[in-house]
Amino acid sequence: MNVITSISAMQKESGQMRDSGLKIGLVPTMGFLHAGHLSLIDEARKHADRVVVTIFVNPTQFGPNEDFSNYPRDILRDRERCETAGVDALFVPQADEFYSPDHSTWVCEESLSGGLCGKSRPGHFRGVATVVAKLFNATLPDIAVFGQKDAQQGVVIKRMVRDLNFPIDILFAPIVRETDGLAMSSRNVRLSPEQRARALSLVEALRMAEHLFDKGEHDALRLIETVRKRLARSVDAIDYVELVDVETLEPVGTIQKPALLAVAANLGSVRLIDNCILNDHFHH
Ligand code: AMP
Repeated sequence: MNVITSISAMQKESGQMRDSGLKIGLVPTMGFLHAGHLSLIDEARKHADRVVVTIFVNPTQFGPNEDFSNYPRDILRDRERCETAGVDALFVPQADEFYSPDHSTWVCEESLSGGLCGKSRPGHFRGVATVVAKLFNATLPDIAVFGQKDAQQGVVIKRMVRDLNFPIDILFAPIVRETDGLAMSSRNVRLSPEQRARALSLVEALRMAEHLFDKGEHDALRLIETVRKRLARSVDAIDYVELVDVETLEPVGTIQKPALLAVAANLGSVRLIDNCILNDHFHH
């Protein structure tokens, strides 16, 4: 596995792969890799000849009071995991080269970024769209794989790719969970055992809603209320519980098409998100 830190070396490596007719699959991450990330690597391999993983804790997507400095990091372990997973190139940009000190160009998606996580994290999706665009330009992929875990991020990136004509196919992979159901997240390691137990309420609340939906409850407000009540018993703060159209991210009243039920909540200072898709014709 080739470990690359400079942008020009990465572009050269990808350029050579492309010149040899090899299709490049990209998996962008912030590291502290878990089985969710590894599933994206497997998915990328299915659709590409070479897999490039990037690890970069992107400062511009964190707000001033967020966990940038506490974000878990373990680059040596991540390297091993990528090697074992058969990753071809690992790109680990260095913050001082990746963002020039006078960096002043941003990618702002202005329609889908405002709701859900965008409401409580102003500027977050500007940071995400900008870093992903930069990673695309550094790694020159044919496809890129994102997790359904960060559903809004995926929709925003797909829109950016369409609007800015990136010649890249965006693929999504399902949420990978711990055996008890908690969605895997690098941030889970920051939960105390007591918070870890209460964090299960996110998936439990979603499953309650799925169950009700399957029994015929298609009214968004009633489903949201059920989720809120379950969360309120266990989490320290609910950021949002929303039912939105999977493509437009607009709130839905009655569920007729596939709808994203998305939640964000805090356990102490750890902010967790989770979601499921109701009325998903592929899964129901
Ligand atoms: P992160 O390192 O948290 O920024 O995530 C990098 C990529 O992995 C994103 O596309 C996430 O959506 C995806 N991802 C994170 N957690 C999971 C999970 N539990 N299952 C599937 N994909 C995930």
